[in-house]
Amino acid sequence: MRRFVLSVIASLAIIFFIPPAGDPAPAGPRPASTAQASASTPMDAESPAALDGFSAASARAERDWESKFRALPSPANMRSDMQRISARPHHVGTAYDRANAEWILSLFQQWGWDAHIENFYVLFPTPKERVVELVAPTHFTATLEEPTVASDPTSDQHAEQLPTYNAYSADGDVTAPLVYVNFGSPGDYDELERLGVSVKGAIVIARYGMSWRGIKPKVAAEHGAVGCIIYSDPHEDGYFRGDVFPGGAWRPLQGVQRGSVMDMVLYPGDPLTPGIGATKDAKRLPLSEAKTITKIPVLPISYGDAKPLLAALRGRVAPESWRGSLALTYHIGPGPAQVHLKVKSNWDIKPLNDVIARIPGSASPDEWIVRGNHEDGWVNGAEDPVSGLVDEMEEARAMGELLKQGWKPRRTIIYCVWDGEEPGLLGSTEWAEAHAGELRQHAAVYINSDSNGRGYLDAGGSHTLEKFMNGVARDIVDPETNVSVWKRRQLRLIATGTPEERREARTRPDWRLYALGSGSDYTAFIDHLGIASLNLDYGGEDGGGIYHSIYDDFYWYTHFGDTDLRYGRALAQTAGTAVMRLADAELLPFEFTDFADTLHTYVEQLKKLLHDKQEAARERNQEIDEGVFTATLDPKEPLVPPTRDDVPPYLNFAPLDNAADALARSAARYHTALEKAQTAGAAALAGASLQQVNRALIESERRLTSPEGLPGRPWFQHQIYAPGFYTGYEVKTLPAAREAIEQKEWNKANTALAEIANVVDAESALISGAAQELENAIK
Ligand SMILES: [Zn+2]
Repeated sequence: MRRFVLSVIASLAIIFFIPPAGDPAPAGPRPASTAQASASTPMDAESPAALDGFSAASARAERDWESKFRALPSPANMRSDMQRISARPHHVGTAYDRANAEWILSLFQQWGWDAHIENFYVLFPTPKERVVELVAPTHFTATLEEPTVASDPTSDQHAEQLPTYNAYSADGDVTAPLVYVNFGSPGDYDELERLGVSVKGAIVIARYGMSWRGIKPKVAAEHGAVGCIIYSDPHEDGYFRGDVFPGGAWRPLQGVQRGSVMDMVLYPGDPLTPGIGATKDAKRLPLSEAKTITKIPVLPISYGDAKPLLAALRGRVAPESWRGSLALTYHIGPGPAQVHLKVKSNWDIKPLNDVIARIPGSASPDEWIVRGNHEDGWVNGAEDPVSGLVDEMEEARAMGELLKQGWKPRRTIIYCVWDGEEPGLLGSTEWAEAHAGELRQHAAVYINSDSNGRGYLDAGGSHTLEKFMNGVARDIVDPETNVSVWKRRQLRLIATGTPEERREARTRPDWRLYALGSGSDYTAFIDHLGIASLNLDYGGEDGGGIYHSIYDDFYWYTHFGDTDLRYGRALAQTAGTAVMRLADAELLPFEFTDFADTLHTYVEQLKKLLHDKQEAARERNQEIDEGVFTATLDPKEPLVPPTRDDVPPYLNFAPLDNAADALARSAARYHTALEKAQTAGAAALAGASLQQVNRALIESERRLTSPEGLPGRPWFQHQIYAPGFYTGYEVKTLPAAREAIEQKEWNKANTALAEIANVVDAESALISGAAQELENAIK
């Protein structure tokens, strides 16, 4: 469900020269010790023969198999698979969702995989009653319908389409004055407070964008609102961006973004079975105790339906940055517009069909490389998720071909086709929870994709895999320019970056992975189980406004997306090469110098965050003392003056600074030992200690978790990455400390800094132990 959020932000990134979405600009200075350790890799060298984790002989064999593999994925197959899977709506619980799973299962079996369908039973509300109407000062009833488009052959399947709604909205029937809250982020409510506007007892109308949609009703309810309407402003994905569908790719007048508003930052997956697999006889919470359902009713609407509501608002004119692209003056209210909002759902338990397919490892069957993409869509879902799914299927077909030719992966490969991603990462989360014990034991890496488009490789994930992923990207050819996808991305960073980013792109051997927040099926693997994860897609040259609407279908994708599926082929080559290389390497190609470098930038960001807050509080207090706010007040447009704030105290960064330094030293030691072991050749890499080192490498991401989890949300156990409590998809790195600083909880911040330092120290000890094993092996 992630892609369009990303690609809209990614294309904004080009316009405004900000770094790619999800990556909080980790562009600070690097400690020489970690930066230089990797400088031996030549910049974009022509695929050097050596491969990290492989002896020379096995690297040659690997390169042979990989080049055979990369010749196999076929855009024609992807196109026909996409047409078939997206031919009808296939959301959770539908016959076509089940039929797709069975068909995909039969293909995996034909291709030689050991495959089965695994079922779970989850709470999945579907709408029964939906009303949005303006009841004063005039009357208008929202259509809440997406009309058939004559040229789009699947847009008329109304009987099977899920109506426009937000899944896991609370039931409710409210009538109240309307207030416009911009994107509905916490900062927008701070601004409302200064404007003297309260949303207590009101229905808020927020536009899609900036924060994840589920944050909007959550923050509205925290401020006392009784209902929430979310609309797609043409400024974000409609006519402001380009021609609208069917003439162009962008959102038409009545296009609506469906989507989940489950409070996934508490825990994703089935709301009734937190932490355990939703099997048939699992112990379930009563609905009244499910914490991830919204507190207030919420519905999404089109800009066609939003316009009369916004036009009926008076009160203050919205600040300039709050105004969208509708032909009206944006007012905030409250009122005189009064709105009636009603939501009622069927709260049914529905089956999930996860397809799980396996190739057993020949040498290390107990070490698993897991790969997944979801199958369920909100409606036909050709872009989200089928454009990623068909690539994963071509990887699986190609690997089946290689098996016939004699390829024997060392490790076990598990391919997963998830159901129920859209409502709340249901299929992947329930499977990960049901198999938590064995996954913690065996899973080395999880590789996710979701949707795909045209443009640049976007890669996010665990920084222990950053060097590895850069190596894979150097071996994939960009279909539009014929340079490597690594080179193309590096040059784009130079073309669009700040001076600091340009400098880094020219000198740093690896480009950076963005850190994972949430929004797709990697979440349970990295955040809950501590399995090193990657999320891959291509994008940045496409764009559109059909996300989660009935127009996300085969017609749209083959006219406006990656129309000839050349980037589908590139994604299959990228993810499949990564899977094969991870599955075949004698030594898992984890590497820690890039991670140590990245951690250092995160620590520096936290220090800057605190420093900026101190400066801001001092400045504001001084301005209050100087009488700035009272003297500059426009009595005709009054603002509520701010109150004095305590200046944030200094926090104790010393333990974390020391831990980050120790990590850099362990990482450098491991790097040196690895290079020596590879030079020493096959004997060293085949030693008995190899298994020990691989165990440590598999364990390395687990060490970054703590069983108590994050404050207030124990399901999220990773201490380096988490989706933000008030951002949703967007990552917060070093989350316990960062969010405590943001919430001004200084004691909690100090505690969190110390706890993160402990986790990082444990990681350093593990890496040093692995380095020691390698040093012993080459003696
Ligand atoms: Zn998706």
